[in-house]
Amino acid sequence: MFFRSYTKTTMPNTRIRQNIQAIRSTLPEGVTLLCVSKYHTVEDIRCAYEAGERDFGESRLQELQAKAAVLPEDIRWHFIGHLQTNKIKQVLPLVSLIHSIDSLRLAQAVSRTATVPVSVLLEVHVAQEDSKFGFSPAELQSLLKENALQEFPNLRLAGLMGMASLTDDAEQIQAEFGCLKRLFDELKSTYFEASAQHPFDILSMGMSHDYRLALQNGSTLVRIGSAIFS
Ligand SMILES: *Cc1c(COP(=O)(O)O)cnc(C)c1O
Repeated sequence: MFFRSYTKTTMPNTRIRQNIQAIRSTLPEGVTLLCVSKYHTVEDIRCAYEAGERDFGESRLQELQAKAAVLPEDIRWHFIGHLQTNKIKQVLPLVSLIHSIDSLRLAQAVSRTATVPVSVLLEVHVAQEDSKFGFSPAELQSLLKENALQEFPNLRLAGLMGMASLTDDAEQIQAEFGCLKRLFDELKSTYFEASAQHPFDILSMGMSHDYRLALQNGSTLVRIGSAIFS
């Protein structure tokens, strides 16, 4: 009995702490580690918190609410899943950054619902899979050219988020992350260099299986779940 409970309470702690240390040792200065805690327990999140982590990512409202209610208040929660308009009102007070603004309609709805300015990333679709949400690079270019996204009073455009294709082909992943990085640099210099409202300094790309490639391509924030928690 003693050994069973001993194993249960100390093993995840050690494992999660070691995973975080291993990942952190590879991150360049200034890159943010977002611990993607969706599907993982409050207990596991506490282990990562005790290891010093403060940024956690969730993709569903109910799970986010349940966890935020019982975990420390200085956690910065990030919403990384597809956001339905009927969930905006409840998500807003809980999160510090929404990674998944994937349509003009959603941008408008978030700005309308917000009572204070909210930091968001524009999600860009660069992967080959059809199922991924997001603006195409061309669509984003033309919306920004028309000033369609910059003028929402309650949105602070903080940068871009993207995902590469789920593939083992490193060259393809490189190409997709490279495309995101070039788009990010171009949009930043064209539309945001002198903006007081929009910081546009976050490029959120890279997950457990491809974050090294994302870092090589200029990611400033990696979203890592399974390599930390499982
Ligand atoms: C789940 C998820 C991640 C983390 O994926 P892992 O492979 O577990 O690292 C990152 N970004 C988004 C948008 C996700 O939904």
